[in-house]
Amino acid sequence: MRISRLKKRLRGDHDFKGHTILGSMCSEPHPIAKRTYKRFLSTNVGDPGLFPKLIKLEKEFISNLGVLLSNPNAKGNVVSGGSEANILAMWTAKNICNAGQNEIIISENCHFSFDKAASLLSLKLIKIPVDSRQRIRVDLAEKAINSNTAAIVGIAGTTGLGVCDPIEKLSEISFKNNIYLHVDAAFGGFVFPFMDNGPKFDFSLPGVKSITIDPHKMGRAAIQSGCIIYRDENIANYVRTPVSYLSGGSTVNNMIMGTRSGASIAAAWMVYNYLGVNGYKKIVKKAMSLTWWFITEVKKIDGLCVKVEPECNVVGVCVNDNYDIKKLINGVRELGWAVSEWPDYMRIAIMPHVTQRALKKFLNDLKKLLLIQSLHS
Ligand code: PLP
Repeated sequence: MRISRLKKRLRGDHDFKGHTILGSMCSEPHPIAKRTYKRFLSTNVGDPGLFPKLIKLEKEFISNLGVLLSNPNAKGNVVSGGSEANILAMWTAKNICNAGQNEIIISENCHFSFDKAASLLSLKLIKIPVDSRQRIRVDLAEKAINSNTAAIVGIAGTTGLGVCDPIEKLSEISFKNNIYLHVDAAFGGFVFPFMDNGPKFDFSLPGVKSITIDPHKMGRAAIQSGCIIYRDENIANYVRTPVSYLSGGSTVNNMIMGTRSGASIAAAWMVYNYLGVNGYKKIVKKAMSLTWWFITEVKKIDGLCVKVEPECNVVGVCVNDNYDIKKLINGVRELGWAVSEWPDYMRIAIMPHVTQRALKKFLNDLKKLLLIQSLHS
């Protein structure tokens, strides 16, 4: 069997180089991440005793991210992605709590990984409405606190609209009430620290106990690499499963995965050190200037608007009452664009692979489709 036959079989799938993917929070990995991943493809850090140096590299990478997030003492792991990191945070919060404490206070705009966590861990999500800027209503979050509260979650870079919950205020109420605060910065974690005046969401806020941050989104690392970062070693040790049989010797596993790719760790470490803070600043600056340009162009089109001004490179495009968003989304999809669909908007993520040229073409297609809708109404 030749690889060309496989390529032929998979032809037609989207590809980050094809300039049609406008709705993904992942991107083409950096070339250095790809090369490194390939080199360490066969490593399995699920048996850590076999790869002690890779484990050391993982610890170093987590510590690097800790420094980025204002806490050099942070501990954690590279896991499969933001979903696993969020589930681990909820598992940790549950293990820290007393039996019976099972309520998680969270924005109604949360990622679906929290619904999974709730189902797996028998937790109850108390979904709090958002304000006009699509951020969790802290007054309502505070009112929801009771003796069953296990954790509060803040989102730094929401999946649909790229806004940041008021984490400083969530930290205040969590700290005051001695409640675990987890921050889901799966997307914003590789954006906000590299902005001049990005929102505050990290361990400098005393209530924050853990953070999800994903190198495989804006970090330009290879899929799969998400990270769960805990404030300290004590918190990091609340999820632990002893394993005795591994060929590298008995150990403790504190993740969901067993077998785990060392290639993800090596690639994330490599690209992080290669780009450095200045490299990421450039990536974020470029993505944000394209985001503001795109928003300006959207607003120029009769019938289109943005759901809310985002705080990072995620834009919710909606239509006025004369048009049908569902039809518009179906229309752009038929023309080959991959966009994400929400009930009243389409999400465009301006990732590093997204070009101004592709966006211009997309905006033209939107105009044409709106014209067709107006002619048929
Ligand atoms: N959290 C947020 C805010 C996200 O946007 C996403 C994915 O888009 C996730 C968590 C889940 O990440 P993953 O798809 O890597 O599991």
